[in-house]
Amino acid sequence: QCIRSTNLSPQASLEICQGDITLEAVDAVVNAANAHLIHGGGVAAAIARRAGLPLDKESREWVQQHGPVTHTAPALTSAGAMPARYVIHAVGPIWGEGSEEPRLAETIHAVLALASQNGFASLAFPAISTGIYGFPKQLAAPIFFNTIQSYFTAEPESSIKLVRIVLYDQATLDAFLGEFDRWT
Ligand code: ADP
Repeated sequence: QCIRSTNLSPQASLEICQGDITLEAVDAVVNAANAHLIHGGGVAAAIARRAGLPLDKESREWVQQHGPVTHTAPALTSAGAMPARYVIHAVGPIWGEGSEEPRLAETIHAVLALASQNGFASLAFPAISTGIYGFPKQLAAPIFFNTIQSYFTAEPESSIKLVRIVLYDQATLDAFLGEFDRWT
């Protein structure tokens, strides 16, 4: 369920929710993917499991055609058996690789740009990079809020009307809620 909400523009809102992102009936669920779209662990494995074989097949084809996915160029596939329509596969920074904070912002911004190019109205983000990739949750949260807000300040006519951040574990939820209350 969604615990906090705020307006990003006259037409768009941001919600902070707790739950399993694979159950979100949005235009696009964002995956915290790796560059090769091997959906081995964390939220990627949950998405791949729920979506079924079409997602693995399209992921393989995407990498064959375009090469590894980068922070600034996420991949788009269908969502298979999930209630969402599409999956946007975003590759966040690995903590320790350098320039992690600007790279997380670039990753989030590129997802919003791709969603809007495709005319999507609703999106659900997981806490990209804060699991296996080790990005501290308290640092990640304001990067999500600031990047999403600056996107809508620059693009008030975007097709996107709803951005949900869907958090799974209690520690990540608590960190994001605490930072959200400081931010708003
Ligand atoms: P990364 O490799 O980018 O760090 P992870 O998948 O390891 O990505 O973790 C990102 C976040 O996704 C973590 O907060 C993890 O708890 C969360 N997560 C795991 N499963 C789900 C799910 N089904 N729905 C939403 N978030 C999930």
